[in-house]
Amino acid sequence: MNHTERNANSITSSMVESLIEKYNSPVPRYTSYPTAVEFSGSFNPDDYFSALSKMDSNSTSGLYVHIPFCENRCFYCGCNVIISRRKDMIDVLLNDLFEEIRFKSSFIPFKPQISQLHFGGGTPNFLRISDWEKLMGFLRDHFIFANNIELSVELDPMVMDENYLTSLRHLGFNRVSFGIQDVNEKTQKAINRIQNIGHIERLMDVSRQLNFSSVNVDFIYGLPYQSVQSFQANIDWIKKYKPDRMAMFSYAHIPWIKKHQANMPAESMPDASEKLKIYLAAESQLNAAGYASIGLDHFALESDPMSQALKNRSLHRNFMGYTTLSDLDQLAFGPSAISYVQGVYVQNHVKLRVYERSVREKKDFFEKGIQLLPEDHIRNYIIQSIMNNLYLDINECEEKWKINFKEKFANEIQSLQDFQDNHLLNISRDAVEIMPQGRYIVRHIAKIFDEYRKKTAESTVRFSKGI
Ligand code: SF4
Repeated sequence: MNHTERNANSITSSMVESLIEKYNSPVPRYTSYPTAVEFSGSFNPDDYFSALSKMDSNSTSGLYVHIPFCENRCFYCGCNVIISRRKDMIDVLLNDLFEEIRFKSSFIPFKPQISQLHFGGGTPNFLRISDWEKLMGFLRDHFIFANNIELSVELDPMVMDENYLTSLRHLGFNRVSFGIQDVNEKTQKAINRIQNIGHIERLMDVSRQLNFSSVNVDFIYGLPYQSVQSFQANIDWIKKYKPDRMAMFSYAHIPWIKKHQANMPAESMPDASEKLKIYLAAESQLNAAGYASIGLDHFALESDPMSQALKNRSLHRNFMGYTTLSDLDQLAFGPSAISYVQGVYVQNHVKLRVYERSVREKKDFFEKGIQLLPEDHIRNYIIQSIMNNLYLDINECEEKWKINFKEKFANEIQSLQDFQDNHLLNISRDAVEIMPQGRYIVRHIAKIFDEYRKKTAESTVRFSKGI
């Protein structure tokens, strides 16, 4: 059975609704394990610098650069951004980025080879083309770009034109991702993100002409004035323009934390039941149109390497998103950027001023971090296998970590029994396999292997709900 068939199974919204009602507790997204709430401010920065010095010169690494600026505030935004149109702020940021990269790279005893380079934000296309030339030149001087490097950037289509896209292609970019969110004007006005859809369509066409190997888009469900009916316009648009990959994120309304979200009245948003129906209607149509579901919030054409990786059960995830590349060290630069090197996670300071000071004074670089324990590595492997590939090969796990899985995880296997009894997963001698309905609560299944959640009272930790 292929993924399309599996996902197109006749799962009704009432079946999923009752599942979500049953498993109605906040759970981590597991973009990392241990999750970011375990990162600590008392982390010793020398552990990270020591990890840099132990990087493997035979492996490639991922590189991430964070650009924190945006020209306009979208009301749904959950990121830490600086709203500005002052382009001179980029000159300051680039100088700080260069300082940071020079200093931290000095701990690596060789020039790292990079197989994945991603720019996120904020709005990376806040940069002018002359800034990109400077930045890419600097990165090429300090890192070796692998021949088959994935060079990707998140773009706000409304603050760029076709020439900008052409210049990015000439600079070596081969993947682009456009933030669209919703093609309906009423929703766009409510979220303060007015888009000219004709302009986006031209950018999509030009991206294809320029031979970007992957052209991706982002949508969000749960926004004001969305309904199953209104969201159909987004699905029709996707079917027409056939992006290679797409993200369909669930909007979380938390105006008590993100004050600007209060600009959107809660009454204008679809209720939980409608929101679920939007998601399920979109998912079944996308599956039927040749997209595989990647986790709950991503889709990729069946021909895309990401869908192939899911089929081969070799999909991975890091802070940049799903990836077909396995367990790379991730060097991340810029405010709030999260690095992962040789079992150590660190997050740079989130506030721009604090980040700038840390770079200029070359001390107190990190907001927080954590060094993984041997046990964390094993549990991370299990949780990522379940979350990304919906499958844990017990024999491979035993072989890799030199453990007897059934003895070591006897309690966890006991806890999985309830899911098995409800046909949400199947445990055999060789594997734990998540069933089609179990996908919707896969975070709850993965949580069984999360040692930290057992220790921490859930009420003290803020996580989102499944869908
Ligand atoms: S473009 Fe993205 S990061 Fe910037 S305000 Fe809008 S949602 Fe936030």
